[in-house]
Amino acid sequence: MSFHADPRFDAVGSVRATPETLAGLDEWRGLDPQQQPTYQDAAELETALAELRSVPPLIFAGEADLLRSRIADAAAGRAFILTGGDCAETFADAEADKIRRRIQTVLQMAAVLTYGGSVPVVKMGRMAGQFAKPRSSDTETREGTTLPSYRGDIVNDHAFTPEGRRHDPNRLLQAYHISASTLNLIRAFTQGGFADLRRVHDWNQGFLGSNPNYHRYEQIAREIDRALKFMAACGADFDAINSVEFFAAHEALLLEYESALTRIDSRTGNPYAVSGHFLWIGERTRDVGGAHVDFLSRVHNPIGVKLGPTTTKDEVLRLVDKLDPERTPGRLSFITRMGAGQIREKLPTLLAEVGAELPQVAWVCDPMHGNTITSGNGFKTRRFEDVVEEVSGFFDAHAEAGTIPGGLHVELTGDDVTEVLGGGAEIDEEGLRRRYETLVDPRLNHDQSLEMAFQVAELLTK
Ligand code: PEP
Ligand code: MN
Repeated sequence: MSFHADPRFDAVGSVRATPETLAGLDEWRGLDPQQQPTYQDAAELETALAELRSVPPLIFAGEADLLRSRIADAAAGRAFILTGGDCAETFADAEADKIRRRIQTVLQMAAVLTYGGSVPVVKMGRMAGQFAKPRSSDTETREGTTLPSYRGDIVNDHAFTPEGRRHDPNRLLQAYHISASTLNLIRAFTQGGFADLRRVHDWNQGFLGSNPNYHRYEQIAREIDRALKFMAACGADFDAINSVEFFAAHEALLLEYESALTRIDSRTGNPYAVSGHFLWIGERTRDVGGAHVDFLSRVHNPIGVKLGPTTTKDEVLRLVDKLDPERTPGRLSFITRMGAGQIREKLPTLLAEVGAELPQVAWVCDPMHGNTITSGNGFKTRRFEDVVEEVSGFFDAHAEAGTIPGGLHVELTGDDVTEVLGGGAEIDEEGLRRRYETLVDPRLNHDQSLEMAFQVAELLTK
């Protein structure tokens, strides 16, 4: 057969997807996708999607493959994953200083974990695409008025007006462009010298010296500095530390968006979601027969699934069969979010049942989503001590089962907000009023994020 006669190859020899692969990418449409926007104007939606189908990819297949191999290291205990960022990014907050402070915070946490825990850290942001939120109710009622719930800036506006809460397809395009500019800044910061380990002190700049963990970080930074100077004096080559790998992750919730931003990798003919490096399926949409699981089973990115306290052995094994049938190391992460009150009971049991069979899977702890409470004065919040207790239960469960604690997934911001109770600065219920800015879930502030990193570094070396 001549080269050009094979329909999988084009004139320059790049590999095309098979017709079965292409048809499979639309299979989710018949599976009643949950948590999707309801757009009024089909033509307006189609115009937005047509544009998304033609825009350049945000990430490349080769980068997703690299991340898969890094996650495989974490699954095998040779690295530790750190994912941090907003519960929901907003269009308004996609400005340079805020993005930089979030990157600084993740870099600082990674420095603490690498130095204190003696382990390479795979760094990911809930950034450059984390715009869609699943909601428990389709509507919200305030003072007798009922409107559609806020579903994240990619769907509608937080403003409680009929126009604000309208599901607007043009927001899909806005989300793409804001993801692109955010990712551009992330790439500039992490490749352009800012993330050089020799600037470990600079990452503390711009944060509050009055916060207890600021000084603890300075101490570690001094130690890292000394170690680097020693290495330099020994003639070490520092090329490896002047830039870092930083990957973009988000929940793959809006299937029209993800599907329009899927491209065929010309090296292999395999589809990749090009909206971000790592995509996860949320606790509410992880039904093994559902649309989200079907769609993500067909793209070759590394992916994750959130697992809440009701997860059964059977569900886990069926998810693995569907999402990772070849048992590829690093392809699948299970992100457990059991809650501090349940993790010590639920996770050891689950790991004892399935852990030994799944060495290719990275187990990651999300200590946020099982610990959401409402404060006495009405704020959606979390207790820092519960968050830490869940992480500690996570490490103990893996130690008991002989499996590997592969990473941490947290909601944080580099700003000095007051959304989570406790921590070194002991934010109390009244303190929440001071600077509560999140539109969805409460985030660790800069100080609490550093404190979390110090605690996890200790758990890593226990
Ligand atoms: C989230 O990560 O913001 C989220 C909604 O998580 P979960 O699906 O675990 O509830
Ligand atoms: Mn959240």
